[in-house]
Amino acid sequence: MDAAACTVDEAADALARGELVAMPTETVYGLAARADDDAAVARIFAAKGRPSDHPLIVHVADIAAAERFAAELPATARRLMAAFWPGPLTLIVPRRPGIGGAAAAGLATVGLRMPSHPLALALLRAAAARGVAGVAAPSANRFGRVSPTRPEHVRAEFGPGLLVLDGGPCEVGIESVIVDCTREPPALLRPGQLARERIEAVLGEPLADRDAASPRASGTLEVHYAPRAALRLVASDELARRVQRPPGPAEQGVAVYSRVAPAEGWLHRRMPADADALAQELFAALRTFDEAGAHTIWLEQLPAGSAWEGVLDRVTRAAAAAPPGS
Ligand code: AMP
Ligand code: MG
Repeated sequence: MDAAACTVDEAADALARGELVAMPTETVYGLAARADDDAAVARIFAAKGRPSDHPLIVHVADIAAAERFAAELPATARRLMAAFWPGPLTLIVPRRPGIGGAAAAGLATVGLRMPSHPLALALLRAAAARGVAGVAAPSANRFGRVSPTRPEHVRAEFGPGLLVLDGGPCEVGIESVIVDCTREPPALLRPGQLARERIEAVLGEPLADRDAASPRASGTLEVHYAPRAALRLVASDELARRVQRPPGPAEQGVAVYSRVAPAEGWLHRRMPADADALAQELFAALRTFDEAGAHTIWLEQLPAGSAWEGVLDRVTRAAAAAPPGS
């Protein structure tokens, strides 16, 4: 049997009972459980194989729900919520004691996000109507692997038995931007498709960078988001040189993800020349190469510029997971 597709009401009922549901969001698919029930959240950590000291983002239907998880909402957080919620922006704020402890991995802070995907909002509202304060939902993949951006990716990760609310392909395609609002100025913990400049324009000041004072979190680990194949970032001119003739015997099993066009015979996928388009298809492309049996992916180095910061972060981490070699 395939993982079961379900309706919003069925998914909300399951969440209210403390069960797991795969939820579409505009960023990636989430593995959701009610965040106000530590036993339900423990099922997420078990299913993902994720260490329980790595905090999860709590998804909320509105700002009032965010206030239930927050001890206070700093003025910077309120401004960013007003500007960018619902949307692909997670805010770290002080946690209200007594709620969301397991989701926050016991930290005194909590990560909050109101997603914009219509089915995610419908599910969060239906769950709230059943008494669910918010929903913890890390990416619906096994720990350390590529995040799922399509329902079939979730099925490939978790197989039959997991309820999947089918929202089609995710529009943004990489995980949310994370901004730590517990410090002044706020710090960018994880870049994404909401450009740093837009956040800074709303704050009226530059974001700080992640540093030793920043909370540790799996979404910010050096090695993360990795396909099975070893991913190598290759400079455009070097890649053009390597693929100007058909692959030799030593290059069997090498996949090429590039803007430059290779000679005949390469396992190739054309990389979008636009950062938003690349973000949207990146994780699906990496999965496609894995499915094709590639042992190595040569990924053409990305153009410079802040529009590419989110995808550059993801491919750099994926490359860091690969063993040394060419
Ligand atoms: P994911 O890996 O998709 O589950 O993304 C969740 C990420 O959100 C974590 O890995 C952290 O980077 C971040 N996060 C969630 N809650 C917190 C928190 N309380 N403090 C710091 N970072 C958090
Ligand atoms: Mg993840």
